[in-house]
Amino acid sequence: MATPTPLLMIPGPVELSPGVLAAASAPPPGHTSPRLIEAFGRSIERMREVWRCGPSGQPFILAGSGTLAMEVAAANLVEPGDRALVVVTGYFSERMTAILRRYGAEVTEVTAPVGEVPATSEIREILQRRGPFKALFATHVDTSTGVRVNPEPLCRLAREAGVLSVFDGVCATAGERFDMAAWGADLYFTGSQKAIGLPPGLALMVAGERALTAREARKAAPPPLYLDWQSWLPIHHAYEERKPSYFATPATSLVMALETGLGEILENGIEARLETQARAAAALRATWKTLGLRFVPKTEEVTGNTLSVLLFPEGVDASLLPRIAARGVTVAGGLHPAVKATSFRLGHMGYTVTRPDYLRRAVEAMAGALQESGARVDPEAAVAALESGLAVPA
Ligand code: PMP
Repeated sequence: MATPTPLLMIPGPVELSPGVLAAASAPPPGHTSPRLIEAFGRSIERMREVWRCGPSGQPFILAGSGTLAMEVAAANLVEPGDRALVVVTGYFSERMTAILRRYGAEVTEVTAPVGEVPATSEIREILQRRGPFKALFATHVDTSTGVRVNPEPLCRLAREAGVLSVFDGVCATAGERFDMAAWGADLYFTGSQKAIGLPPGLALMVAGERALTAREARKAAPPPLYLDWQSWLPIHHAYEERKPSYFATPATSLVMALETGLGEILENGIEARLETQARAAAALRATWKTLGLRFVPKTEEVTGNTLSVLLFPEGVDASLLPRIAARGVTVAGGLHPAVKATSFRLGHMGYTVTRPDYLRRAVEAMAGALQESGARVDPEAAVAALESGLAVPA
């Protein structure tokens, strides 16, 4: 008998919906075929709804992973010698710093202890005293710590200081609230394999007017051709007007999946998806507490909804992970160097949050594995906590 496929509960890639799976695995259309043109055009329109960027936001759909989106952000917005402020909340903010430095930026990092977010007052002070900065970068949810920043005040501070605001939404977009137009954010990007619920392979971003203008005003040499969003603008305009176009071959199968995936996210509006996501996350937090687990993020306010970054309980170590795997559920180990050996991570975003049965399987596997590791836990109480947390109030 074939071994059943394990349930993928890492923080991306994630489980796919049947619709997305079917769209991604159909024979790939050509990049000028009417079906692809329609899917590309619709995906652009749907991204505007998910990003809440208003009509002036310019979506980009590029073949590549989330790191490509980070590169595109740096390559288009930063000129050698520009100053950038990076709000560090984990491993991926540090990656942003490394990328920015490669493009010649002078980076100032504002940090906080692991599990915390730097104080807004400190960020304000740095913007006022140590500028002028070209752009502020922050990670919406850092996947190494599970820490979530609140983008709204950061956007406000950036606007006040005349600085662009850029957010890495790789572990957040479509899973955490982001009101790009209302908050005045300038660039928000993600990868397809997380809360968007696709296979890996697409870098998705929306640039606001100020970001587009900053690229147009660039004095330094243009960015590498593939990374330059000016290369991509004509084809995005053409696809949106439902016309064939070519710059570099798009990942056509993934664009088919994107049309479907965004359609599913927007089925009852983005607000409904965010509610489902938030409810699942809150139910899981309550469940982990029932199991005696503690979190890397220090407070609920800074805890992302898209994943749980948990500390091994006393007497339990990383051998917990193969025990969870033996119960048919794949979770991820620690990533941030400060908690690499003491934490582990479980993703819950995208299609997964619409599947209480998946969440229950994850909780059962976790409770069973903890028991096997010698922790005194009550699996039934854990499942009851999950179910009462998931119950929609009448
Ligand atoms: N930023 C964040 C917050 C991430 O979680 C990740 C991936 N885990 C990345 C950037 C990089 O994305 P990718 O692995 O798709 O290149």
